[in-house]
Amino acid sequence: MPRKLFVAGNWKMNTSKAEAVALARALVEQIGSQEAVDTAVCPPFIYLTAVAEVISDSRIDLGAQNMFYEDNGAYTGEISGAMLTDAGCRYVILGHSERRHVIGETDEIINRKIVKALGDGLEVIFCVGELLAEREAHQTLDVVRRQVQVGLESVSRSDMERITVAYEPVWAIGTGVTATPDQAQEVHAMIRDLLGQTYDAELAESIRIQYGGSVKPSNAAELLHQADIDGALVGGASLKAADFAAIVQAGIS
Ligand code: PEP
Repeated sequence: MPRKLFVAGNWKMNTSKAEAVALARALVEQIGSQEAVDTAVCPPFIYLTAVAEVISDSRIDLGAQNMFYEDNGAYTGEISGAMLTDAGCRYVILGHSERRHVIGETDEIINRKIVKALGDGLEVIFCVGELLAEREAHQTLDVVRRQVQVGLESVSRSDMERITVAYEPVWAIGTGVTATPDQAQEVHAMIRDLLGQTYDAELAESIRIQYGGSVKPSNAAELLHQADIDGALVGGASLKAADFAAIVQAGIS
């Protein structure tokens, strides 16, 4: 069965409440009823419930940008998986490069979060990707392989069905520089191969691997038509409804 494309918007630490609601409304109008591509938006925590209400009758799903690996307690400033499902989230992004490299999350922390999120019934968008220096040192495949292996440690085959991997080369995020389709395809194929070895061929064939890093309407089609690219995780361009809708449309046509 061919993999259905999945395009998710990571709004990061952007928008006011009014802007978040307006953006969600515009997306509902433009792509809220299409079924050809799965879509999700990931607003800041504080606007999740407001956006959930706007998209509730549409086919757009809700995701969060992070969560903690404990249920509750003295973890000031953190949010649990149960709180996210309570707010209407289907997805949570984990392992984003800004969490790894700005906040300092390790592969082990990301693994704890992934295991907890799956236990809490969430679907995970699991981000991996190399730094520019690592690419230049020809370490890309090794770095990404380690991130995938440690990040997915002890995740069962059945839980893997709720994982989307997002390959996001760090040098391409928010920079306007995109990996070439060949560069992205090479890493995607390696990830799929690794999942085949770790689990089995059927799982590897069914899992979706998004590309992320300066995806925009002008480059989306070429990326989305690569054999092992099954969607996009979109940052900057997801803040403009018309651009996000055009990226989704690029996956349809
Ligand atoms: C991201 O943050 O996941 C991302 C891919 O950002 P951008 O599209 O802005 O590069």
